[in-house]
Amino acid sequence: MVKVAVIGAGVIGLSTAYILKSENPSIDVQILTKSTSPNTCTDVAAGLWEPFVMRNTPAELQRKWSKITWDYIEELKTRNDAKDVSILTLPAYNIEDKENVQLPPWKDVVPDMRALTKEEMKMFPDKYKSGFVFTTYILEPSKYMKWLMKKYIEAGGSLHYKKVNSFDSLADTYDVVVNCTGFYARDLCNDATVEPVRGQVMRVKAPWINRIVLATFGDKVAYIIPNSETVVLGGTVQLGNFNGEISEEDKAHILRETALIDPNLENMVHVLDAVDFRPSRPAVRLEKEDIQITSWSSKSRVLKVIY
Ligand SMILES: Cc1cc2nc3c(=O)[nH]c(=O)nc-3n(C[C@H](O)[C@H](O)[C@H](O)COP(=O)(O)OP(=O)(O)OC[C@H]3O[C@@H](n4cnc5c(N)ncnc54)[C@H](O)[C@@H]3O)c2cc1C
Repeated sequence: MVKVAVIGAGVIGLSTAYILKSENPSIDVQILTKSTSPNTCTDVAAGLWEPFVMRNTPAELQRKWSKITWDYIEELKTRNDAKDVSILTLPAYNIEDKENVQLPPWKDVVPDMRALTKEEMKMFPDKYKSGFVFTTYILEPSKYMKWLMKKYIEAGGSLHYKKVNSFDSLADTYDVVVNCTGFYARDLCNDATVEPVRGQVMRVKAPWINRIVLATFGDKVAYIIPNSETVVLGGTVQLGNFNGEISEEDKAHILRETALIDPNLENMVHVLDAVDFRPSRPAVRLEKEDIQITSWSSKSRVLKVIY
């Protein structure tokens, strides 16, 4: 029987393991992970569908991959077995401090993207000069991962708590390894081009907020993203910042800038602060590699690794 190890149980590891196992029941799929929800980067995310911090990832790949996810969410909405998954549909206002913002390369993936009018820009503080709006989905990460884990185990997959220190250590046991370690691929793959894009957010109770706003000014961002029980207020996009602690300075930035964008936040109730590292590379890596392994216990053999 073919044995596959999926390393990591964030949204990428769980999605990979579930699809592999449910579409190929005869394969032995095992997740190896040092943590599961709620202790992953994915749990900190708002779950917004919108390509973000793509750096040099080619525009055509951004379009292709983001469309696959869009179509997948649309299908998930109709599935009878996915009633526990929370998918919100809301308008996303993207505003910037520059005039005549261009529509992004993935504009045709969504049904209704358009530039904001001068009249509509009056809803926002004066420093924001132009922007665009489209309808999008929010697939709430923690609820979605709970569902993915249940479906994966029901399909016959298994999970083992284990930190993987090298691919070599898996060569005797597995035929294929799928690396879904997010930011921690930096250590596992000894790849210094994987860098954190530090994100700090705040979750608040403000159930009257019913639109998404993503604001960019200079090298800073501020955003408001509703989930079903809380609203996510952000944020930071700090490339190369390894600080895993809550920064009071960032917190003050989030409170100040989101209140300017939406004064209705005045009566919100603070729930929690969170920080984590978005995995980032010069371009997203989706690749396969055959690694030649020679160890004392195994003769020279090939381990197939998918990144
Ligand atoms: C503040 C913030 C807001 C965000 N908002 C959004 C959003 O709205 N929409 C969006 O699409 N994205 C958002 N993101 C980005 C999103 O969170 C990440 O892109 C996504 O979570 C990455 O998922 P992942 O499964 O690759 O990594 P992770 O969720 O980090 O999971 C990695 C897994 O690998 C395991 N692991 C790591 N190393 C090892 C090892 N050596 N051995 C065994 N296990 C290992 C970990 O324990 C974990 O289970 C946000 C991120 C942040 C920080």
